[in-house]
Amino acid sequence: MKFTGTIWRPPYEASSLLLEVTAGCTHHKCKFCTLYNDLPFKFRMSPMEDIECDLQEVASTLKQWEGFQFDRAFLTGANPFVLKTERLRAIAELVRKYVPTVQTIGCFARVTDVTLKSDSDLTALAQGGYDSLTIGIETGDDEALRFMNKGYAAADIVEQCTRLDRAGIRYNFFYLVSISGAGRGKIGAKATAAVCNQLHPQLIGANMLTIYPDSELYQEIQRGNWREESEVEKYREIRTLIENLDISTQFAALGASNAFQLHGFLPEDRAALITAIDKIIDTVGEEKLQDYRKNLRHL
Ligand code: SF4
Repeated sequence: MKFTGTIWRPPYEASSLLLEVTAGCTHHKCKFCTLYNDLPFKFRMSPMEDIECDLQEVASTLKQWEGFQFDRAFLTGANPFVLKTERLRAIAELVRKYVPTVQTIGCFARVTDVTLKSDSDLTALAQGGYDSLTIGIETGDDEALRFMNKGYAAADIVEQCTRLDRAGIRYNFFYLVSISGAGRGKIGAKATAAVCNQLHPQLIGANMLTIYPDSELYQEIQRGNWREESEVEKYREIRTLIENLDISTQFAALGASNAFQLHGFLPEDRAALITAIDKIIDTVGEEKLQDYRKNLRHL
């Protein structure tokens, strides 16, 4: 199997077949992001021959792993959903040719990748098995989206994800805690809840901002243009988000950026999640949470 650079996948895709179809990010401009800085290029599509070759290898390995099967594939890269519909359909056909047990295919997607597709493209992709995309919306706070160069506004998230809803493609969100900056955590959380409450994310996964020196955001902080939330403010921000979500969804804080793992279904687990967050704020405190962040060498 060919993989280029660090491979990122959501925690809940751990049992999916990982397949490289792109490497890097077409956008590559978000100020906080260092995820693909290890690549010598911004974005690359894998040749179809390489994808087929990898799938042949998977098929031959599976013959030796009696009783093991993949139900789902996850295409790697920051935003494979940017690929043209015909190419995504062709990849889906190859996946099914070599690994016929795969029922659904997921990947990371940018909001702007959905914008590029027509409604009939989205329907064709749903029919081709694309489902449960993971979209790093990060926040519904327009000021933060603009400052961080995300390349879309909160209204775009609502518009494009409504189109996914109509096409029958489900989605999960990544929410970036602290993207709104010091003193604005609750504003960001409320704006994000307002966006999510108009949509149907299966899961909202919180990642906590962890700033590395090779990010543009680090330079902004050195120039005095931006301040990070305290660790306790980050937990208060999550608490505000959970309080203000009035849809049925899952909330999860599972990745390495979270010092403590949280997971629950809303609305039924709301009180338990808030109790767990209050306990972290009251008993762990700023200093220990900062120690965790400082020692987090890699996400
Ligand atoms: S956060 Fe996502 S969209 Fe932004 S540069 Fe990083 S990988 Fe690309």
